[in-house]
Amino acid sequence: MRHVLILGGTTEGRLLAAELAPTALRVTSSLAGRVAQPRLPAGEVRIGGFGGPEGLADWLRAEGVDAVVDATHPFAAGISHNAALAAAATGVPLLVLRRPGFTRVDGDRWLPVPSLAAAADLLPRRGERVLLTTGRQSVAAFAHVDGAHFIARSVDPPEPPFPPSFEVLLDRGPFTVSGEDALLREHDIDVLITKDSGGAATAPKLTAARVLQLPVIVVERPPLPEGVPVAPDVPGALRWLERLG
Ligand code: NAP
Repeated sequence: MRHVLILGGTTEGRLLAAELAPTALRVTSSLAGRVAQPRLPAGEVRIGGFGGPEGLADWLRAEGVDAVVDATHPFAAGISHNAALAAAATGVPLLVLRRPGFTRVDGDRWLPVPSLAAAADLLPRRGERVLLTTGRQSVAAFAHVDGAHFIARSVDPPEPPFPPSFEVLLDRGPFTVSGEDALLREHDIDVLITKDSGGAATAPKLTAARVLQLPVIVVERPPLPEGVPVAPDVPGALRWLERLG
């Protein structure tokens, strides 16, 4: 039986596993283990790091993996880099399944920045009441920022250190435009910070910010590994797997 490894932790990873699990393929999804109660994909699931690119290459060999789909989050650059190295070392075909970034439309007041540090540099100049939606591991990048109040939204509690003025909002998408609009108003938010993650589940905050004419600091994506084919969606990944035979 042919064996497909999905590096997951995303909606796309779960959708791909759901498509493949009922087929004749053996499907294993790998999760990093960062979220306390992850939404588990269909098929086999393994949780935890592999131990760098060598550990991943060993796992591919030991488990007889025939293809790897890197469906990790666009900002999970470490595991994507490791996957490219492990695929090159073992000769196992690798596809990156990466959803497109958010689409800017008329009326958006986006401030693109290359990093979380650059986002922090814009505060408090660009806003003093901040909705921070960049994930629980990124709050530390704002710990030195004085003069702004942060409301950090994440699935699980963020990791310290925290900014001096800070509160946490535990929530998990998908979100709605009306819900995001209410949240921005209720907390009197004057700037939103997001990663350019893309995807429908978290896009409503951008619509709500546009309507309220709020600036949005958008952290740009890290580059993809070079020379690896990319599919923008699950059907594209399924076609790639079909072509492999
Ligand atoms: P990262 O910085 O790219 O990876 C750090 C290390 O975590 C990797 O070297 C690997 O450890 C382990 N790892 C990451 N993803 C893994 C996976 N799917 N299966 C097994 N091990 C994995 O990753 P990250 O940014 O912390 O993200 C961790 C996971 O959360 C990813 O799977 C990603 O899809 C998901 N996620 C991330 C974000 C985000 O904003 N970064 C948002 C939503 C979901 P070893 O070297 O020991 O193998």
